[in-house]
Amino acid sequence: DANEIEDFAGSTEITLKNALKRTPKRDDYEIIKFELPALKNGDILLKMEWISVDPSLRVYHNKYNIPYDQFGYTLGIVIESKNDEYPVGTRVVTYEGWCDYCVVNPNKPVIPGQRILYYKLPDLKGLPMSMSVGALGMPGVTAYLGFLEICKPQEGDTVVVTGAAGAVGSLVGQIAKIKGCKVIGFAGSDDKVQWIEEELGFDKAFNYKTVNISAAIKEAAPNGVDCYFDNVGGEISSLIINEMNDFGRIAVCGSISTYNNDVCQLPKASILQPTVVMKQLKMEGFVVWRWNYRFPEAIQQLTELVLNGKLNPKEHITVGFENVFDAFVGMLNGENVGKAVIKI
Ligand code: NDP
Repeated sequence: DANEIEDFAGSTEITLKNALKRTPKRDDYEIIKFELPALKNGDILLKMEWISVDPSLRVYHNKYNIPYDQFGYTLGIVIESKNDEYPVGTRVVTYEGWCDYCVVNPNKPVIPGQRILYYKLPDLKGLPMSMSVGALGMPGVTAYLGFLEICKPQEGDTVVVTGAAGAVGSLVGQIAKIKGCKVIGFAGSDDKVQWIEEELGFDKAFNYKTVNISAAIKEAAPNGVDCYFDNVGGEISSLIINEMNDFGRIAVCGSISTYNNDVCQLPKASILQPTVVMKQLKMEGFVVWRWNYRFPEAIQQLTELVLNGKLNPKEHITVGFENVFDAFVGMLNGENVGKAVIKI
């Protein structure tokens, strides 16, 4: 839009000022306004339209120098271009994080095992573009390949998912149903439990804040658990793993129950080694980037599943760049149902 380009003055981005061992507060962040550089050959100027807020920002907070930019996937539109492959109007998925405009050169090679920094919006066949940072983007690929490649589900398996009403977990449970598994989910409120049972078709769901985890699994899975997709870690996961069958498979995707803790003072959880040995379990952590070369294939498969009505991806939409922080902390506190995204 020509007026937008005329009005365009610079960019605003948000950085975290201090390493934190607690849930972040608004004044832990700094809002930085700055003038963007003139475009060089190969550069594009992007105006962000959608921003994803992801739990992983809390994992990396102690790993990088402070202050650091709040990264994560965004969807932007090219409003000025010195790159023939990305003319004005092209939509680009980027890893630029919490900013409203940016100048980038998108011709960065994809390095095996590393995050993909830029790619053109894939053909979502009319589905909402916001899904490119959710079910049809990194979280979707995490659910799809993380579950299929590591849990290797067989028809009739019993699958447990934690974080079951979130972006990744809600997809894992539905993919497990597509594979003919029995699915049990754990989520943090009665409303979420109702949603995943009634709308998503989970066989059984529980509010992990109010049930006895071991008793709940014994009741819902009297024949034991074959696969566990672990989004949360901590004691809940130890209790679930203790209910697994011989040769069970555990995909360790995340441990959000520990992300705001001091890494030296992680919450206590039961020792698992005797169970892992005696039940001959396979427990494998993964980072989705290991499959970065399979993103196009996975996104295409996920798009088909959504179009065929087999996968129901829900989005939890917040409006306004100024609300990114609240959306992020809200997500950490479990306010989101499905994928937390911000419309700019
Ligand atoms: P979600 O959409 O699931 O949002 C986070 C959810 O975590 C909240 O809604 C909340 O739901 C739950 N939660 C917060 N605190 C706790 C706690 N103490 N115990 C249990 N649950 C809690 O986020 P994502 O789907 O984006 O991410 C889910 C997991 O997957 C995270 O651990 C993330 O780091 C991981 N991940 C890993 C990737 C990889 O490559 N390995 C890639 C992408 C994500 P509730 O109301 O149920 O508590």
